[in-house]
Amino acid sequence: MNDKEIKSWHLESQAKALIKQMEKRGFNAVYASAAEEAKKIIMGMIPATGAIALLGSQTMNQIGVFGDLRASGRELVDHATQTKGLTPEEAHNYRRRAFMAEAMLASANAVDAEGRLYNIDGVGNRVASMIYGPNKVILAIGMNKVAISPEEAWKRARNTAGPMNNKRLDKPNPCVKSGHCHDCQLPTSVCSYFTIIDRSLPAGRINVVLIGEELGY
Ligand code: SF4
Repeated sequence: MNDKEIKSWHLESQAKALIKQMEKRGFNAVYASAAEEAKKIIMGMIPATGAIALLGSQTMNQIGVFGDLRASGRELVDHATQTKGLTPEEAHNYRRRAFMAEAMLASANAVDAEGRLYNIDGVGNRVASMIYGPNKVILAIGMNKVAISPEEAWKRARNTAGPMNNKRLDKPNPCVKSGHCHDCQLPTSVCSYFTIIDRSLPAGRINVVLIGEELGY
């Protein structure tokens, strides 16, 4: 085996073990070794009718799912493109429409080896929709987000996803200077809601596509 094959074997072995843990928790989980394959799986999971909510995911952007859906003419709830120029109240009311969507697409900030999902959210619309609302939740997660323990998962969410999202959003928070979280509690913080999704209820509502590539934050 060459180095590339050994890396693929390692990622796939980790994913297979993780899928078993996720299935015990009621998640529907599958593995795609590459972004292109993941995109096909995700597009095939999207219901044929009803609104689809796109909820803050660089992974979905990077693999081209959000771009294709925006070009498709499907009914979307897409706050990233549709709330510009709205008042805070109008933007809030727009985001709430995600709860009534048929399905939602997003990622997670980290996953632990037991299959739990970890997220930090600023407004809360992304994690609230994952927990309740849309009939189907589809999450694309690069294997770079898998952490061995709950402690490591939170470290990843705080110290990798947090600063990178702050940088992307051009926030004036201390993590942008140091590259790690300072638990800043500033009014400009994008970290308000720290959630663990322990299982899917009903079983099968939350669908996870693990991807053997470094994707998202
Ligand atoms: S809590 Fe503050 S310092 Fe930490 S990642 Fe969030 S915005 Fe940055």
